[in-house]
Amino acid sequence: MSPAKTGQPDRRQELMVTPPVSVLELDDMLTRLRLTAIRDQLDNLLEEAARKELNLREALAWMCAAEIARKDQRRIAMAMSIAKFPFVRTLEGFEYEAQPSLDPGQIRELATCRWVANGDTLLLLGPPGVGKTHLAVALGREAVSKGYTVQYVSAMELISTLARAHNQTALESRLSQYGKSKLLIIDELGYLPLEPDAAHLFFQLISRRYERGSVLITSNRPVMEWGEVYSFGEGCAYGDQVVATAILDRLLHHSHVLTVRGDSYRLREKRRSGLIKTSSAVSTIPTTGKEGSP
Ligand code: ADP
Ligand code: MG
Repeated sequence: MSPAKTGQPDRRQELMVTPPVSVLELDDMLTRLRLTAIRDQLDNLLEEAARKELNLREALAWMCAAEIARKDQRRIAMAMSIAKFPFVRTLEGFEYEAQPSLDPGQIRELATCRWVANGDTLLLLGPPGVGKTHLAVALGREAVSKGYTVQYVSAMELISTLARAHNQTALESRLSQYGKSKLLIIDELGYLPLEPDAAHLFFQLISRRYERGSVLITSNRPVMEWGEVYSFGEGCAYGDQVVATAILDRLLHHSHVLTVRGDSYRLREKRRSGLIKTSSAVSTIPTTGKEGSP
């Protein structure tokens, strides 16, 4: 029924005849609509739109783009802090010349995050200092910027957190916490032997994520040695080997393996600065015992 027939004022006409809104009213409306980028940059946006001689539709689209850019930026900043990366490392900051064993094309392919979308596993293997943590963080950041949820944790912290939760009968909530992100980065697996109990906890986590979310694992041990990592060598019970095999089975199914060979980047920097002369001097370099620190 038309407004004339109902006796109600025509809302469209009302809007058209509304006198120009004050700056404050417009500010309030933009705040209520949570269009804070448009609100904060309104004068600049309007001036720019006039300068570019945009029509109303183009100007509106341009302002929407400014709003979306701000919201994306905030979402990414929030997701980066949730991911708890230990430091900032980027693919742009990675020198491929320093690591000729890596194929830049393969890294570019991984940077598309198709493997994350597919829930695949990525194993980054190689000796200390060759850039495994750097690449893990950089690929994690790529995943965040593409809208995936990411969580970074060192293997040591992961295992101790799960073990503590197990003792406090809070394992379920911890497992679901580590199970919910689309990509879980487990850094430096294999630096410490995992006791059989820890192996079981780790196995539960991997089973939970299996074919649901991606896992990126960095390790200084070849995959074939991982079985030993989950046990105490000769004293190891048959069950532990079964667990180790089950973990490997799940991890290696749908997996990509990147093996980084070559010299430690840290030692390379020291060698360059003249602190040491050859790689045979490796043992004279004091180690902090903390890999992955910047
Ligand atoms: P890993 O995890 O393999 O032990 P890291 O990723 O911690 O090694 O690397 C040690 C340091 O050297 C880090 O600060 C990292 O950013 C830097 N680094 C390693 N490889 C490269 C590289 N190819 N280009 C730039 N920086 C690198
Ligand atoms: Mg590392």
